[in-house]
Amino acid sequence: MTNRPVRVRLAPSPTGTPHIGTMRQAIFDWLLARKTGGKFVLRIEDTDRNRFVPTALEEIEASLRWLGLNWDEGPEVGGPHEPYFQSERLPLYKEAARKLIADGHAYECYCTPERLDQMRARQRELKEPPHYDGRCRTEEGRAAAKAEAGDRRPVVRFFMPDEGETVVSDFVRGEITFENARLDDAVLLKSDGFPTYHLAMPVDDHEMEISHVIRNEEWLPSAPLHRRIFDALGYELPVFVHTASILGPDRSKLSKRHGAQSVLEYRDAGYLPEAVFNFLGLLGWSLDDKTEIISREEFIQHFTLDRIQKSPGIFNIEKLNWMNAEYMRLMPVERLAALLIEWLERPESEGGLPSNAARPLDFDYTARIVPLVRERVKLLPEARDMMAFFYLPDGVEPDPAQLLGKTFRDNRSRAQLLLSEALVAADQVEGWSHEALEAAFRDLATRMDAKPGDLFMLMRVALTARTVAPPLFETMEIIGKERSVERLRVAVNLL
Ligand code: GLU
Repeated sequence: MTNRPVRVRLAPSPTGTPHIGTMRQAIFDWLLARKTGGKFVLRIEDTDRNRFVPTALEEIEASLRWLGLNWDEGPEVGGPHEPYFQSERLPLYKEAARKLIADGHAYECYCTPERLDQMRARQRELKEPPHYDGRCRTEEGRAAAKAEAGDRRPVVRFFMPDEGETVVSDFVRGEITFENARLDDAVLLKSDGFPTYHLAMPVDDHEMEISHVIRNEEWLPSAPLHRRIFDALGYELPVFVHTASILGPDRSKLSKRHGAQSVLEYRDAGYLPEAVFNFLGLLGWSLDDKTEIISREEFIQHFTLDRIQKSPGIFNIEKLNWMNAEYMRLMPVERLAALLIEWLERPESEGGLPSNAARPLDFDYTARIVPLVRERVKLLPEARDMMAFFYLPDGVEPDPAQLLGKTFRDNRSRAQLLLSEALVAADQVEGWSHEALEAAFRDLATRMDAKPGDLFMLMRVALTARTVAPPLFETMEIIGKERSVERLRVAVNLL
């Protein structure tokens, strides 16, 4: 394969919000680099000026950072192969194009867009695959085209031999043979002086000493062209690793209806980066065909290219949701507490706690709450909703109908009596532990001849203004005697 030190790159085009497929690619790159002690390079392929989106770079970087995929070279961090923006490397591509022309591997093409359109229309009629007809390959053809072109600048095209074959060796699929006659004379340099991907990729992968090109299988049909360009320029070939596309559960191309397409949307919906990393890492790679929960460290330890699958990765949002809930349950309390605090401390308008909850939040207090809620929620905002009442200094505001529920709807005085007794009992509990509280209130239920569940529901709503909440007595232990008594008093008065 290759003896070169591992250097891999993510080469996104800043044309919009990065797709989860790009981030899956980044995970594979990053894992290979971390596993082998190699380098992960971020290179921005911004040569398509028409499709350039200024916010895209920020979103690419934010996605990588959120997933914990630090790059060793690239924008912001720099590195020995600067610049890492292709738009700043134009002289390199021009020089490569000049060399290819000088060696007879490429030629200038003056054909006008109108002529190329006519040519393609004719090919469509003849049911031929679209391809350049080679007019500018010869000096005469070129002179004629130039005369028609006026002062239009030429493009540079690769001279693809009409005969023979090109063999591409792909790590995942083995050797694939392409007939040259079916390959086009692709444009390498556009008339605006910018390279196409076909030229910029070989030049930069060579210059940046990239050892493995991990990219989506959509590039496989272009791989023979790339191979010929590497050869023509005398570059050592990287190992090509074409990964299968990600499909929806119905095996159609992944689209909006299968779920969000960018990791930032998952971040904003309250998924955990650990879960999304794990989930994407298993789209097209497997440890042993059965293990689902794999930590970042285990991924690094076990990652090998030969477990990349030929078959498409199936994007199943149910599985991601399940995984997220698993991570909520399993991750260290401190980590989950830190992630939750980040949500809770946001302004209320951005999904944080109401403004009367004092910031910064107490870390230890939050860490005590985490074990009570984490089993009951799938996403961070659900946890936030379930735990907000712990932080509200002025109490919660249950409404009477919620307090009474179905059980006491027609028996308000009974509810009032039970809550008043609960208030007295709370005041008298010795040692404010959840065990002592449970014993005291079970005892109260017996004395009052009430179903414990009915009494506890009344208290739950009084204390949390929720019918679904973390366990009652643990909750009371954490919010403390003073606040519990106060909230019970407010509820009694309300009835
Ligand atoms: N700029 C290309 C893309 O976004 C990169 C493909 C590659 O990894 O070589 O698809």
